[in-house]
Amino acid sequence: MTGYKSLGVKPIINAFATLTRLGGSLMPPEVVQAMQEASKCFIDLDELQIKVGKRIATLTHNEAAYVSSGAAAGLTLATAVCVVGNDATKRNVFPDLRELKNEIIVQRLHRNGYDYAVRQVGVKLIEIGTEHGTQRDDLLGAINMKTAAIFWFQGAMNQPSELPFQEVIAIAKTKNIPVIVDAAAQLPPVSNLWNFTKMGAALAIFSGGKELCGPQSSGLVLGRADLIEAVRLHASPNQGIGRPMKVGKEEMIGLLAALERYLTLDHEARAQKFEDIVLFWNKGLSGLDGVVACRDFPNEAGQPAPRTYVKFSDRFSRDVIIKQLLAGEPAIAVAPADDNGIYLNPMTLQDGEERVVLEKLLEILG
Ligand SMILES: *Cc1c(COP(=O)(O)O)cnc(C)c1O
Repeated sequence: MTGYKSLGVKPIINAFATLTRLGGSLMPPEVVQAMQEASKCFIDLDELQIKVGKRIATLTHNEAAYVSSGAAAGLTLATAVCVVGNDATKRNVFPDLRELKNEIIVQRLHRNGYDYAVRQVGVKLIEIGTEHGTQRDDLLGAINMKTAAIFWFQGAMNQPSELPFQEVIAIAKTKNIPVIVDAAAQLPPVSNLWNFTKMGAALAIFSGGKELCGPQSSGLVLGRADLIEAVRLHASPNQGIGRPMKVGKEEMIGLLAALERYLTLDHEARAQKFEDIVLFWNKGLSGLDGVVACRDFPNEAGQPAPRTYVKFSDRFSRDVIIKQLLAGEPAIAVAPADDNGIYLNPMTLQDGEERVVLEKLLEILG
């Protein structure tokens, strides 16, 4: 016996999201095959990173690209290069940044767990605005000689009261400060691969192991050529802050294969498939006593994709249902809602699993 079975690790049907904790996403056969091919001989890793980057830049209509070991690593590396640039003499200064531009500006509204990937570089995070919103003057007042970059997080944290992206970009441009976008889970739409940078972001960062269905430990840093070159010099196999964030040859080739595949997918057909599954769930759960199921849009990451929101009456407990689903055979993972409800997400399912999810839920809700 090999792999999960020999370890007693249970496979899980993922109706939650492209959650890193559950394995992110599943690599299609062509990605696995590309990685297998890549595993068969030695290459020069710097050369591969440069050439894969060139190809990815062309495919995504960006000036340059770097394959990181995940979006979080991309955030760390992007922060590092905004602080020291590609000055080789400063490559080993971390984490003592006293003499350098060591401030990163972020809206209070955008604070989230992933901003530690920025803070771990040793920078000071300068919060602007409040949880109720951010004003133009908040940003203008925070910018000074020590400002290295402005970070923009895209996803569930975005709210109408935030200082809009276009305005942040416009102000940053007049002050010559790079704007870095964490777009880790912002696919679909596929156009996001070039939209953020076309609108003026210096770098946009994506997870390779989520919607792209590349290797789980891969990510994409897209954008300005000078910053990408600096990222490469700070990262493995070079000795720098990114040396522990090693990217293997298999990951580089695997992510390229995943991206090439993703760009040729019929995204309209995929969107329709998600709508069909959500409708199938909503219909299947309708008429049950104490259960209301409806379409929710956009989803938890702000992606333009639907999911089913299932609301329970007091007869049921959300947490008990989640536990029962996870303890079942097969195990099923779903997302908790803020209230007494759950979300069912079609994006990470294998064909036919939507039926298994519905049958199991009907059995539990009896
Ligand atoms: C998932 C995610 C990340 C981290 O991506 P990895 O590829 O797992 O490192 C960072 N930021 C946001 C907003 C995310 O959703």
